[in-house]
Amino acid sequence: MSKQTLSFQAEVAQLLHLVTHALYSNKEIFLRELISNASDACDKLRFEALNNSALLEDAPNLEVRVSFDKAARTLTIADNGIGLSEQEAIDNLGTIAKSGTKDFVSKLSGDQKADAQLIGQFGVGFYSGFIVADKISVESRRAGLPAEQGVRWTSGGAGDFEVEAITRAQRGTSITLHLREDAEDYLNLWKLKSIISKYADHISLPILMEKEEWKDGENDQPGDMVKTGEWEAVNQASALWTRPKKDISDEQYAEFYKAISHDHEAPLTWSHNRVEGSTEYTQLLYIPAKAPFDLWNREKSAGVKLYVKRVFIMDDAEALLPTYLRFVKGVIDSSDLPLNVSRELLQESRDVRAIRDGSTKRVLGMLEQLAKNDKPEAVVADGVTDVVDKADAAEVDTSQHGKYAQFYAEFGAVIKEGLGEDHANRDRLAKLLRYASTQSDTATVSFADYKARMKDGQDAIYYITADTLAAAKNSPQLEVFKKKGIEVLLMTDRVDEWSLNYLNEFDGTPLQSVAKGAVDLGKLQDEAEKKAAEEAAETFKPLLEKLKAALADKASDVRITTRLVDSPACLVVQDDGMSTQLARMLKQAGQSAPEVKPVLEVNAEHALIKKLEGSAHFDDLAHIVFDQALLAEGGMPEDPAAYVKRVNALLV
Ligand code: ADP
Repeated sequence: MSKQTLSFQAEVAQLLHLVTHALYSNKEIFLRELISNASDACDKLRFEALNNSALLEDAPNLEVRVSFDKAARTLTIADNGIGLSEQEAIDNLGTIAKSGTKDFVSKLSGDQKADAQLIGQFGVGFYSGFIVADKISVESRRAGLPAEQGVRWTSGGAGDFEVEAITRAQRGTSITLHLREDAEDYLNLWKLKSIISKYADHISLPILMEKEEWKDGENDQPGDMVKTGEWEAVNQASALWTRPKKDISDEQYAEFYKAISHDHEAPLTWSHNRVEGSTEYTQLLYIPAKAPFDLWNREKSAGVKLYVKRVFIMDDAEALLPTYLRFVKGVIDSSDLPLNVSRELLQESRDVRAIRDGSTKRVLGMLEQLAKNDKPEAVVADGVTDVVDKADAAEVDTSQHGKYAQFYAEFGAVIKEGLGEDHANRDRLAKLLRYASTQSDTATVSFADYKARMKDGQDAIYYITADTLAAAKNSPQLEVFKKKGIEVLLMTDRVDEWSLNYLNEFDGTPLQSVAKGAVDLGKLQDEAEKKAAEEAAETFKPLLEKLKAALADKASDVRITTRLVDSPACLVVQDDGMSTQLARMLKQAGQSAPEVKPVLEVNAEHALIKKLEGSAHFDDLAHIVFDQALLAEGGMPEDPAAYVKRVNALLV
């Protein structure tokens, strides 16, 4: 039998360095991490055994045993779950597979103090054992392999680890921590019990510890505690979601969330229900307070775990919630699905579709409640509830005020994807959206707020999309709206333009981009203005023709506009066209975008436009006017050097 010494992957070494050198404020989390791994290992075995009961060998009761040896200063966490083969031990305990953890490591700054704080909150799975141990020894055998194919993995948590083959009768994994001197206080039954009940009460697996009793001492005084050989469960060992709501405290809900999400922060809110009807299931769904590092990875596994009759089935069950709700964490336990449900079956099952619809509605309902609690009317200065809609008063929870804003700052851009993804709930989603506007720098304006503030005679909800808030606010297209005091929504998320393709109106009022089509303020424009515009269009006809000819390569049309006040010109796209901004974004992302030829709109009142007519440099000026309009909306002239040359020629 040969012993191999192998090096940790660079990221692991980096992580371990930090784990072993950091001053932890919350050392005990190592136990949560190791018990959670043990429980996962048992879940995996239970699942594989559905199709291959031989894997259970002669030990069908899955359990975790926690024991310690004061004299040897060791703490052991042993499970009879799926176990590890030698290769799995090398792969899983020598590298970091999980992308979340990898992302996390890449975020570490190198500033030991700051990093230590981060890492203490994040929890780093198996490696957190090195918080309290200067050596870890893992012995394991994978279920189904013969006893001679066991493995021993040992490491001091520095650059490398050793593996060797061993003979191991029991299936599963036993992890022995050789505790550092300053971690001796974990060699205490009472302390371990209290940590385990804190972190593992909701785990459906029994966690056993050996009972102790007083040894007879001298003079009838009790001596030391001695082990009795009798093991007892130290956690409740009932899956949290199966218990009645009234028996679960907020702390227990929060602890359960932390355990299934690997998040260190308490969730923003949750919803726990038993759904009865043609499809029966229990759902416990959480909305996190903070976005994870990999929120934008649409391929990452979903956060909802699927159980069937309390047996864990899978945790990348994207069939359970639409992608735009990928931030939701939780558990769905169904009694109607077959235990051996496959991924393919999941996609097709009518029951799964019912669960998905029900869960989607439940999440939207939670968000609606948060939004309701957040209404500014819900809280007045003296703390008295004063809701505009009295009928809703009873349902508003002022103690929850501010949570929707918090949610929206983290996940607002993600739920916008839902406009395109979830037809059936589009109207509900639209009510949940918030934007900045010419009246609010923060994204707090709902379509309903906007509508309530619309001017008499205004018949559209106006918006503009841009890369940044500053670009949106200063866009020439807004000039006439500012002059007339008409509010415009300012949209600066990348997903905005795409998502609004799927929303043409809100509550009967059309949505209108101020950068698309000819501006038609309808009744908001007075007669004199309309007349002046028509006259200008007539007077400037020859100039417009000349401009069109000069800019034939760049502009699809040139026309007079009333939307500008201070700027000479701006670019707009045809009503049904893709905006120049979206086209630019697609190109930057390396995707093909249709060639967008915008319309150049000019301000007949502007001195520069008035001067154009008789200018000896007509062509150059025409190109400069066009390129500047492009620059003003954050674009780049096609030939920047030519632009500079033209401007310089004029300057000279
Ligand atoms: P995570 O559990 O988040 O994937 P860890 O670093 O905690 O990351 O563990 C890495 C991997 O090691 C696990 O994914 C699992 O495959 C394996 N592992 C850890 N603990 C056990 C165990 N008790 N039994 C079987 N496999 C385990």
